[in-house]
Amino acid sequence: MIRLERVTKRFGHHTVLDNLDFSVDAGKHVTLIGPSGSGKTTILRLLMTLLKPDEGTVTVDGDQLYPAPEKQVREIRKKIGMVFQQFNLFPNMTVLRNITEAPVTVLGMSKDEAEERARELLEMVGLTEHVDKHPAQLSGGQQQRVAIARALAMRPQVLLLDEVTSALDPELVAGVLDVLRDIARSTDITMLCVTHEMNFARDISDRVLMFDSGRIIEAGAPEKIFSEPEHDRTREFLSAVL
Ligand code: ADP
Repeated sequence: MIRLERVTKRFGHHTVLDNLDFSVDAGKHVTLIGPSGSGKTTILRLLMTLLKPDEGTVTVDGDQLYPAPEKQVREIRKKIGMVFQQFNLFPNMTVLRNITEAPVTVLGMSKDEAEERARELLEMVGLTEHVDKHPAQLSGGQQQRVAIARALAMRPQVLLLDEVTSALDPELVAGVLDVLRDIARSTDITMLCVTHEMNFARDISDRVLMFDSGRIIEAGAPEKIFSEPEHDRTREFLSAVL
């Protein structure tokens, strides 16, 4: 579903991704861990077409994202949903409208169908009773759950999660992670997550990739990475965050 081949990204003289190769099979959940600044978010931004690589190719569902004509990029973009650290909801719209806006305007879904789907998603994220509120009337955890519902409303094949609990008060983290665990269990969406929540990573991941300085230094099943890491760098990182 996702394939990066020999991807290099530089900012000025700083090589942020260094000749990187990896792929994620359809329906799998892969988590990127590693120290701050090691390039994890840059990968999500490449997949979201917010950045372009300097070298290498990125493909999604068999279609090349770089280099590609603008129309192809737009089509691929529709297959990918993303949830950010900051929830980025539309402040002037109700919860319901936040979720229905893109399906109606981008996918051409009817308003009724979009609302029906939005209500199903709100039930899934436990926010049925908040449908007519505005984002400012919700807690950060509730807003993030709306953001998750909004991403799913576009029926993406791929869900990118960028440190989605980092901006939340500690007591609100578990509710958001529970929703994501549920999505990982009950859907066939391919998930690529950047997270500092190691227990969550252990629970949902098929594979964990450990990054350092723009390279993958170790990859494997979560049991392996968390229980028997091979690299000193991975051990050091895990002992600092666990
Ligand atoms: P991580 O997600 O692992 O913390 P990032 O992918 O956010 O790491 O960042 C990798 C490196 O790229 C960092 O050193 C960061 O400062 C740098 N970087 C990210 N975006 C930009 C940018 N737009 N301009 C310059 N440097 C950037």
